Amino acid sequence: MKHANSIEQSDCYSSSITRQTFLRLVLNGTATLSFAAAGLRFGIAEAMAQAPATVEANVIEVAHGVFVHQGRHGVYAPDNGGDICNTGFIIGDDAVAVVDTGGTALLGAALKARISTLTDRPVRYVINTHMHPDHVLGNAAFKADGCQFVGHEKLAPALLARAERYLAYNKAAVGEKAFAGTEIVLPTVGVADHHEIDLGGRTLALLARATAHTDNDLTVRDEKTGTLFTGDLIFSGHVPTLDGSIRGWLKLLAELEPAAAERIVPGHGPAAMNWPAASAPVKRYLEVVAAGVRAAIASGRTMRDAIETVGESERANWQLFDEFHRRNVSAAFAELEWE
Ligand SMILES: [Zn+2]
Repeated sequence: MKHANSIEQSDCYSSSITRQTFLRLVLNGTATLSFAAAGLRFGIAEAMAQAPATVEANVIEVAHGVFVHQGRHGVYAPDNGGDICNTGFIIGDDAVAVVDTGGTALLGAALKARISTLTDRPVRYVINTHMHPDHVLGNAAFKADGCQFVGHEKLAPALLARAERYLAYNKAAVGEKAFAGTEIVLPTVGVADHHEIDLGGRTLALLARATAHTDNDLTVRDEKTGTLFTGDLIFSGHVPTLDGSIRGWLKLLAELEPAAAERIVPGHGPAAMNWPAASAPVKRYLEVVAAGVRAAIASGRTMRDAIETVGESERANWQLFDEFHRRNVSAAFAELEWE
């Protein structure tokens, strides 16, 4: 982990706001577009002027009017700029809704810029699938636009409790320039159960879920195309990360699987996946961890011992196993020893 003192002093705020800033966007690796981003808010625009690397917002249209930007598998690091989860947007006849905004204000701004190349309709809604920083810290790019920020009713308290740590830790990990303009932007609309958003000619159905990946998971279904944004209830390639309840997550997957969906958009993995096939690897991983932890508890083994041994059979199936698996076993042990 890089420390803040190893990062060179930022001069993000030293040049003029009127400076012509160009953001290069590459669509599907083929067409290249460049345009002025000087109208973006102070801080973000300045950061772009100083950013050492190009900020890209490649998107794939996974269904008519539904676009997904695929993040890379990784943890916040200088080489990925915090672009480590999937984000997306849905274009209606009257308005656009964004679903997750990426891990920094710059990434949110790149997504916003990409939207403006596809439609003149305003972004009226920014929906967050849960509190994790890679999904919410791009919200800052949309703050000046007067849109509604929508999340699970438990998102705000969960994010507030972690805000200081999320900002400090990820700024140090990704670098000060890449993190410029990034701040916590909380939901203005909290969803307790379900909520509908009318974008004009298409409705989004939002459901606040019981504790699973986190205690504030929210799914977003575009009724027009049957596209379900699962957030981090589904991982593919990237090992699942447990920050809620392993029992709750398995229960929720069992409830979700019979639901019809033309496709799902996972929080980490391809831009779109078949349903319910996408659920199987996550379910298998969680079942292996839960069974291993329960067996360890039943035989009187310690948490430390369980962390060393449980779930090793899953290692070859996932990226970032070393980064997250032991933490998952630890969280599962703490939960299951009290059942
Ligand atoms: Zn997450």
